[in-house]
Parts: sequence; C-alpha cells; structure tokens
Amino acid sequence: MAILEIKNFTFRYPQAARPALKDISLSVAKGEFVGITGPTGAGKTTLACCLNGIIPHFQGGEATGRIELDGLSIFNKSTAQISRLVGSVFQDPEAQIISSEVEQELAFGLENLGFAPVEMEKRISEVLELAGIPDLRHRSTIGLSGGQKQRVAIACALAMRPEILLLDEPTSELDPVGTEEVFQVLSRLNHEHGITVLVVEQKTEQLAAHAGRILVLDDGALVMDGEPWQVFARQRELQAIGVKI
Ligand code: ATP
Repeated sequence: MAILEIKNFTFRYPQAARPALKDISLSVAKGEFVGITGPTGAGKTTLACCLNGIIPHFQGGEATGRIELDGLSIFNKSTAQISRLVGSVFQDPEAQIISSEVEQELAFGLENLGFAPVEMEKRISEVLELAGIPDLRHRSTIGLSGGQKQRVAIACALAMRPEILLLDEPTSELDPVGTEEVFQVLSRLNHEHGITVLVVEQKTEQLAAHAGRILVLDDGALVMDGEPWQVFARQRELQAIGVKI
C-alpha cells in the first residue's frame, strides 16, 4: 500500500523564474527505505520541505499536482497535522536540539501536544530503544557527539509515531563514525520495525549500502528511480549531472 503518492507535482517559490520541482510523480510503499540524492540545487530540500509541512501551504509559491499521505491530500492539512504523519530530522544536529538533557528534549514535544505523563514515559522509553540510545536518557545534550545528537533527533521524530521518517542530509555535519551510526539506526528501524524511511543524502556509498531504492533529482526533475545497483550502475550519467560517486 502506498503511504506517499506524489502526482505531477510542480512547485515554484514566490518570484522565482523557474520551478524548483517539476512534474514529480512517485509512490512510496509502507516499509520502504528510499534515498533521495542529486546535485546541489536539484530540489531535494524543497521536496523534503513540501512533504513535511515546512513550506506550509507553500508560502505563497505556486504548487500544482497532488501529494497524498496515507491516501489523503496534504494540501488540506495543517502543518501540525502533517508533522504528526511525517517525522523530520534536519541537517544540523546543533540547531535542532534545544534542551540541556536528552530526556527533557524528548518530553518537550510530547508535553506540547498534551500527552499524559504515563503515555509520555512509555513513548520516551520506546523511542530511546528504537534509536539505540537508552543509555543517553539522563545525559546532558551538551557533550554528545554529532552522531548521538542525530540519534536523539531521530528519537524525537519517532515520538509522534509518524507514518514516515524523513531526514534531510542528516549526516552532512557528521564524521564517518557518526554517519555510520545514523545509517545503522535507520537500517534497523526499517528492517526490524518496518518504519518507512525517506532520506535526502549526498553520500552515495551509504545509500548504496542501506537504501532499498534511490531517487535522483536533477534541476527539479526526477531523473532516476530504481534499486541502488540499477541507479549507481549509471555512473557516467550521474557524474554528468554532478552526483559524486
Ligand atoms: P543542496 O544539495 O544544495 O541542499 P537541493 O537539492 O536541496 O540543494 P534546493 O535547496 O531544494 O536544492 O533548491 C532547489 C532550487 O530552489 C534551487 O534553484 C534554489 O536556488 C531554489 N530555492 C531554494 N530555496 C528557495 C527559496 N526559499 N526561495 C527561492 N528559491 C529557492
């Protein structure tokens, strides 16, 4: 069953001469691990922001086509409703953690949504296990490594029990150890817990090792869509558009 369905979606930022996304059509089934890659300026972040409500109602930009989450158009949903369906993790581990303690950070979003203390406790323990960091529960967020911070951010995103975990270049600020930590967690969430993962990533080696499917964007268009071996075999075409492989 498709959890995400995008049909002929085109998006142009206000006053932009050209659309940032052009006639994108794709479908993601529940339980897939999809990597989205492409050169700088291809539209990867724009696509992620259209899916997670960060461009709420597209901020006066022009959007045509459809985006459906779990069979329902996202155009009629509020940012808050979308953020419960799509758990987001961003590029910069420093910018997205605001509390001084890991447990507080996890409690923050849940408290804001009015969860009762018993349910909060249940979810906090659950997501710390899922992100493989139960030992960090009472740790200060200050001394954590980049990889640990991104795993805290993943745990926060999972606390809403979203339909999709969507990550926008989660490892771009991380060293190879942190990068591998994050991808190991994503793989485990996907393989062992069936969580649908969509990750924007320029590190093709990690995508090849962990994703089940790769989407390549170039100049706003979806130019490749297949299994990693199919996409990465097209080395010359990828290099021609500026994908480092
Ligand atoms: P990168 O890998 O550098 O993050 P990207 O593939 O994520 O690039 P986007 O950031 O989505 O690409 O940008 C796609 C296009 O939209 C680019 O031409 C960019 O200049 C343009 N763009 C991005 N944000 C805005 C904005 N807020 N207003 C106008 N144009 C924008």
